[in-house]
Amino acid sequence: MWILESTASAGRLLSAFRWSLDSLYSNLASLLCWLRATLSFPAAWKAQKQQVREGPGETPGQEEEEDSDVPTTPMSVNYHFTRQCNYRCGFCFHTAKTSFVLPLEEAKRGLLLLKEAGMEKINFSGGEPFIHDRGRYLGELVRFCKAELRLQSVSIVSNGSLIRERWFKDYGEYLDILAISCDSFDEQVNVLIGRGQGRKNHVDNLQKLRAWCRDYRVAFKINSVINRFNVQEDMNEQIKALNPVRWKVFQCLLIEGENSGADALREAARFVISDEEFEGFLERHKGVSCLVPESNQKMKDSYLILDEYMRFLNCRNGRKDPSKSILDVGVREAIKFSGFDEKMFLKRGGKYVWSKADLKLDWGFQLCNRIQVQNRSDVICLNGLALSGAWSRDFG
Ligand code: SF4
Repeated sequence: MWILESTASAGRLLSAFRWSLDSLYSNLASLLCWLRATLSFPAAWKAQKQQVREGPGETPGQEEEEDSDVPTTPMSVNYHFTRQCNYRCGFCFHTAKTSFVLPLEEAKRGLLLLKEAGMEKINFSGGEPFIHDRGRYLGELVRFCKAELRLQSVSIVSNGSLIRERWFKDYGEYLDILAISCDSFDEQVNVLIGRGQGRKNHVDNLQKLRAWCRDYRVAFKINSVINRFNVQEDMNEQIKALNPVRWKVFQCLLIEGENSGADALREAARFVISDEEFEGFLERHKGVSCLVPESNQKMKDSYLILDEYMRFLNCRNGRKDPSKSILDVGVREAIKFSGFDEKMFLKRGGKYVWSKADLKLDWGFQLCNRIQVQNRSDVICLNGLALSGAWSRDFG
């Protein structure tokens, strides 16, 4: 009897012990599963996101749905507030399809929304941004973004033809970077491209603006679109002499509805160059340390573009499809339809030292350089001393 009772107790003990072990094992297994899922989530999410971006046959809007719970930060925004321009560049990919410009207070409201959503840099572009209200509208936006929103960087891209010294006096202190478009140092090529207005010389103007940027402490940048008419040009000496903080070199890009297709205002097919030709241009200028190249592939989806209604423009399908306006639906909702490729933005160096305070430029830098312009070669001095030749002038 005693033996039987002891055996029964031992059996109960053993069974209880096995239950505890089973329970412990089951709890441990659940914990391990949870840990594995948690640790592998970012990689899986990234892979899924990549698959959506690169997957064949995606439909418009598909990616936005996939990304909807991961808001994109509008760190750097390009606001094309006007489509009007005084130039007629044959490859222009933001043409004068409307004459609309937002009232100043509405534009400021949109900029505040962007700042609240994480914007650090704003770039004002067009069209020609200095055309509206003789640059006052632009100046007020620049001042608002720097003095009131305290953005790290405020920049402008302009063809430069309408900028007056008075503007620098009034607004220069609020501007970090001024980028001037220049595709050639041969005026005849500029005229062929459409960057020219009668008696005004685009290259002469560039020299004047370079000097004002130095005088009013604005970082100077040059943008060039490489196309059929300038792809063979050698710009090494001129660019080095102008000494910009950055020289952005773009490959001419076709955008349906802007410079290509039935409803476009331009037909840019005759300007297009191959990838190999673009590479050849870059190779010829590899000695220019400030050169930042942008092939079609890098350029297409790596910019957050806002149009004149403050709608993001999605270029994923080779045209500019607008979102709703941030003024109507807010930044977070509108940006889902921007088509923005944040990875490519970082890969192309979209985040760089972009405030003039951080650039630590030597504003006292005075440079004498030989600038050769095709058909004319003279010694000029950017500190204002005219040294020789018909091309020499006072840049002070
Ligand atoms: S200057 Fe710029 S906006 Fe004006 S036509 Fe030329 S590319 Fe277009």
